[in-house]
Amino acid sequence: MTETLFSKIINREIPADIVYEDDECLCFKDVNPQAPVHYLLIPKKPIDRLTSAMPDDQYMLGYLLLKAKQIMADAGHGDAFRLVINNGPGAGQTVFHLHIHMLAGRAMGWPPG
Ligand code: 5GP
Repeated sequence: MTETLFSKIINREIPADIVYEDDECLCFKDVNPQAPVHYLLIPKKPIDRLTSAMPDDQYMLGYLLLKAKQIMADAGHGDAFRLVINNGPGAGQTVFHLHIHMLAGRAMGWPPG
């Protein structure tokens, strides 16, 4: 996978407002927030999109969901948050390093845009 903005954030080549980090993942504030809380949660493993995930990514994918739950709870939004994965350009993906949008702090409409 070619280097992306997000791998540069992992490597501290460009700055980000980091919320949480461990060996598996990094969570930072979206530079263009769509809600009062808008974090991006990314695996440190370079994987371009969910479609590219393989069976041996099962642990990592489950880990990210449980970590998202914990991060939202720690932010005081454990009861009402939305997670979004844009998979591919047709779904609005613009950065090709798998990421989960974590949104909270306002009412969420449905269907999403
Ligand atoms: P996507 O459209 O791929 O699902 O989401 C990419 C997200 O990355 C967008 O919400 C966008 O605002 C965010 N983003 C793009 N460049 C940067 C950056 O340099 N820093 C941070 N923190 N977020 C970024």
